[in-house]
Amino acid sequence: MINIQQDFISISDKHGEIVRWLDNEWIEDPAVTAAISNAIDIYHTKGSEYLRDIIDNKIFNSEYANKLAVHLHHDVSIVSYHDMKNNIINVSLECNECNEVILDSRGLELDEWE
Ligand SMILES: [Zn+2]
Repeated sequence: MINIQQDFISISDKHGEIVRWLDNEWIEDPAVTAAISNAIDIYHTKGSEYLRDIIDNKIFNSEYANKLAVHLHHDVSIVSYHDMKNNIINVSLECNECNEVILDSRGLELDEWE
């Protein structure tokens, strides 16, 4: 179940709590909200066991490894994007040789990785 409160959001199943975010986490880093919505989406589409495995790093290490290995020895950069007031609105890891965004601060795009 997903428990959304004013000061925390948690996801749990019959085995207990899978993950919990506290309000100071998303206040300090608004990108956390993307990770929260991604986790909720995974919980609904792939189930709590899959989400638990992701959070325990049992799944996406190998998916990340395969995705990142494509860019081994390539020229990569961390790039920030700004709005008109010069606030950072996105940060990404990009491959300059493939002209491709590998990861960005919207969170984990696991669906793209399959
Ligand atoms: Zn590349």
